[in-house]
Amino acid sequence: MTLTEKAINKISQDKIDFNLGVKLLLEDKAFNFDELFATLRDYIFNSIPNKTDYNSETYQNAISTIPLKSTYTTIAILQTYPPKIALNKLVELPKSEREKTIISLVWIFKITDTERRNTECKNGCEHYWHNLD
Ligand SMILES: [Zn+2]
Repeated sequence: MTLTEKAINKISQDKIDFNLGVKLLLEDKAFNFDELFATLRDYIFNSIPNKTDYNSETYQNAISTIPLKSTYTTIAILQTYPPKIALNKLVELPKSEREKTIISLVWIFKITDTERRNTECKNGCEHYWHNLD
């Protein structure tokens, strides 16, 4: 697991404060938007039980609670399109939207992964990223 992957999971598991964790990810000297975006997209889709279109009540709850203004392009796209299409659109946005996109994706993963940990993984699991010290 890379330091970035560990940081994302620590944020999800409340082992790092959300705002501080996102700031660390964005200010990382090795920050690479495409890589971080791909990691977060995989993490989100892996954490959602519905593999047909990845739309679930928890996903909907996640996008409606992202801590950003709902008028931002990033949020409007997430609220308008189904998950797979929305994420394909987000990766194409101008650089000025990247920070908002990362904040949104980390938030979505935090919610969907927490749901998974509280359900599927409740009685212990073999996901090494759920078993951080
Ligand atoms: Zn697990």
